[in-house]
Amino acid sequence: MSYDPNNIFAKILRGELPCVKLYEDDHTLAFMDIMPQAEGHVLVLPKAPSESLLDADPAVFGPLFATVQRLAKAVKDGMGADGITVTQFNGPAAGQTVFHLHVHIIPRWEGVALRRHSGTMENADVLKANAAKIMAAL
Ligand code: 5GP
Repeated sequence: MSYDPNNIFAKILRGELPCVKLYEDDHTLAFMDIMPQAEGHVLVLPKAPSESLLDADPAVFGPLFATVQRLAKAVKDGMGADGITVTQFNGPAAGQTVFHLHVHIIPRWEGVALRRHSGTMENADVLKANAAKIMAAL
């Protein structure tokens, strides 16, 4: 498989599709996951194209994980979470559904199970309300 420049996240990166944006710098973009596994589920992408971790230029990982850490702290504080799960899938067999490298930041609360991956579409107002909480903690 080779990188498809028309994947959904490439279109979001080019501004051709909307997202509920949280943070952007020269190398990364963070926005709300549209089918969250928990309230406040965030995605962080490198802007450089690669399908997954496996074909990425190692130079992307420093800026990518700096943004992951920054957003993880803001998600934990803004959402009042007990903990943060960070996930990242490579290939369909591993559960990857969008083929532009991305990292999931999922807030966790004691005793609350995760919803299904790529399960139910969230209401835009809920995404925006959670984004406001996270951005207030950025
Ligand atoms: P993957 O399975 O590739 O690791 O995760 C893709 C994630 O992107 C899923 O959690 C899914 O909910 C999310 N997603 C899919 N399409 C869109 C979209 O158009 N906008 C946003 N914000 N998230 C999306």
